[in-house]
Amino acid sequence: MQGLIFSIKRYTVHDGPGIRVTVFMKGCPLSCWWCHNPEGILQEPESATRIDRVGDREFEVKEQAGKYYSSGQILEILERERIFIEESAGGVTFSGGEPLFQPAFLLESLRKCRGKGYHTAVDTSGYVDTKDLLSIIPHTDLFLYDLKHLDAGKHLLYTGVSNELIINNLKIIFDSGKDVMIRFPVIPGLNDDIEHLEKMRSFLSEYGPEKIRKLNLLPYHKTGSSKYSKFGIQYRMNGIEPPSPARMKELMDFFAETGIQVKTGG
Ligand code: SF4
Repeated sequence: MQGLIFSIKRYTVHDGPGIRVTVFMKGCPLSCWWCHNPEGILQEPESATRIDRVGDREFEVKEQAGKYYSSGQILEILERERIFIEESAGGVTFSGGEPLFQPAFLLESLRKCRGKGYHTAVDTSGYVDTKDLLSIIPHTDLFLYDLKHLDAGKHLLYTGVSNELIINNLKIIFDSGKDVMIRFPVIPGLNDDIEHLEKMRSFLSEYGPEKIRKLNLLPYHKTGSSKYSKFGIQYRMNGIEPPSPARMKELMDFFAETGIQVKTGG
């Protein structure tokens, strides 16, 4: 079986414990305003043209986003990095896009990787078919779970989908007893008002460190902004600046009251 992938990164250290290989799967049912991997949204291969300038000369560079890999090829890549992965107690992380948008391929890959002794993590938006989620839980050691907004209307506005399924699926993972790290993207003006922060803190406190191994506060950044025009996608974050380090420190202290370990960044 093959899966559509737009990037495979080796030696990643922010997508779970140790040194990892992160597989970015293409296709996502959300369209978050701040997405820094817009080339991961469409579930088909795409190409774009980039103009590079050297002095007063311009060069057209063709870029391809999306290539099919078999689960066996993913395993071969892991096997080449086995020594680093084992020595650092790392593993493989399936990210995206939304990895559960290709559920059969994800399940097969998780099974194969875990069968060879690799620690497996899935980075998900949670907006996925509950049946598919249930099928991968036994083969997943860690979930990196995004919580973007707890207000249903604002979640719909900023991501294109409701948060109801996302919250229900998170509770199912909590019940399974699997390790969970929550990822909260901090987007100035969109989800960092005090009313929402308090709502988020009280939601997380309900589950606390017993259910949530870590809370990652992900500061909004602009590194993906140049990709939007290349892939013909509307960019809606003009005028929004990344949060300052002082603001992120303030938020770390704010969420530390939950008793959960809080970290800034992946
Ligand atoms: S869920 Fe993640 S990959 Fe999908 S649009 Fe949002 S930020 Fe991008």
